Amino acid sequence: LTFEEANLCQTLNNNIAKAGYAKLTPVQKYSIPIIQGGRDLMACAQTGSGKTAAFLLPILAHMMRDGITASRFKELQEPECIIVAPTRELINQIYLEARKFSFGTCVRAVVTYGGTQLGHSIRQIVQGCNILCATPGRLMDIIGKEKIGLRQVKYLVLDEADRMLDMGFGPEMKKLISCPGMPSKEQRQTLMFSATFPEEIQRLAGEFLKSNYLFVA
Ligand code: AMP
Repeated sequence: LTFEEANLCQTLNNNIAKAGYAKLTPVQKYSIPIIQGGRDLMACAQTGSGKTAAFLLPILAHMMRDGITASRFKELQEPECIIVAPTRELINQIYLEARKFSFGTCVRAVVTYGGTQLGHSIRQIVQGCNILCATPGRLMDIIGKEKIGLRQVKYLVLDEADRMLDMGFGPEMKKLISCPGMPSKEQRQTLMFSATFPEEIQRLAGEFLKSNYLFVA
């Protein structure tokens, strides 16, 4: 399967070609159609499998189809997509991929993690942010300040969920989905990626994902 055949959009296809990707990796081949179909997903995928593009591309394609124009973009002061990953390195990598794929579009991604200035991140977000990439602790700090609304969230992505649990971020993840304003799991699309699928991750998937979620390994 080629990216041209994956029914994304032309700007995305151009950016994918510029990145030098020719064929979809297995996790991309199975996950992209599921995400395009609007289903929740639990995918077992290792770093290096191409999992980042597997969730970014269909989300970006959907945003493009919704017609993100310069004027509509200015009205969006609340993120439509929240991506959470356990480490600064990982979330920054995800952010850089989001920038690379959204080049030439009005989609704006913002990254924030502990150690960067909280006030600066909040200003960046309220200036217009479609995709918010954050580590769990920082995300809860930002939401705790009540500056960032969650009502527009259509996509919630948890990357390396097993590592987030290992690092003790379970309570933050649970707090996130019960925050005031956060759309319920019926109202949002939730995507979970994890290298392993132990019992705690299965339980978390049950809490975060719609009961008809699909599993890709
Ligand atoms: P990830 O598993 O998302 O960390 O991706 C691992 C690496 O593979 C990253 O450097 C990506 O840029 C690259 N990559 C992702 N998808 C593809 C693809 N379809 N073809 C070639 N390289 C890819």
